[in-house]
Amino acid sequence: MTIKNLIDSHTHAGMIPYDGFIAMAANGINKAVSCSIVISARYAESYFDHFRAISGFYRQLAAAVGVDLYTAVGVHPAGIPGDWARVIDKLPEFLKEETVVGIGEVGMNNASPLEKEVLKAQLEVARDNNVPVIIHTPKENRQTIVGIMLDMAAGVGINPGLLVIDHAHLDIIGQINEFGAVPGLTIRKQNLTPGVLVDNLELFINGMLNSDYSNIMPNDPAGMIEAVKHMQQENVDANIINEMAGGRAAKLYGIS
Ligand SMILES: [Zn+2]
Repeated sequence: MTIKNLIDSHTHAGMIPYDGFIAMAANGINKAVSCSIVISARYAESYFDHFRAISGFYRQLAAAVGVDLYTAVGVHPAGIPGDWARVIDKLPEFLKEETVVGIGEVGMNNASPLEKEVLKAQLEVARDNNVPVIIHTPKENRQTIVGIMLDMAAGVGINPGLLVIDHAHLDIIGQINEFGAVPGLTIRKQNLTPGVLVDNLELFINGMLNSDYSNIMPNDPAGMIEAVKHMQQENVDANIINEMAGGRAAKLYGIS
């Protein structure tokens, strides 16, 4: 059984080099969810322009080489504009677009009062519009911050099945599974490696692979393919691989 219909469940189209889109298509990654991020944003307009660029220009560019892009919209903790509430107010309008499939990438890096306020507002938008929400987890203090975010999601009344906790690793996978959220599995050296994934497959089996490509750390636009190859080498059941490498994302985001 061949693995097909691969979907990268979390990437950043505005940072992917042209050759990166080519590499994705060559590896069979023909669909991807592009999450929003505007590093150091100061103005709401920066996000509005970003949403337009990734759901318009980059979507067309990627489609021309064989990658269908879908978009998640939201304010990333790496760039919270002073007038962030204006972005939140507009999110429902962006969600009406056919290729916009959820809220993301949102979350917290240090659980400051501002980060909490911005995340809560976006969780409320996700809940009110019944769409998936992709949550970033930080490099440090991970269990504490994930705990705060899960408590917040429960308080807001998020459907756990629509909550993606990304960059999952052994440290937080128990919290994610206990909540019933979907683990986002970012495959790269400094996150989840194919070896750790396969060695602990029962913990990560409800997850969705992604490459989370950006230009702020070493990574690979088609990085998730390494996990697919390793799972095949280790004789993981093809149905399990298919779910993790695209099937689950197709259902969650309605892009099958
Ligand atoms: Zn990301």
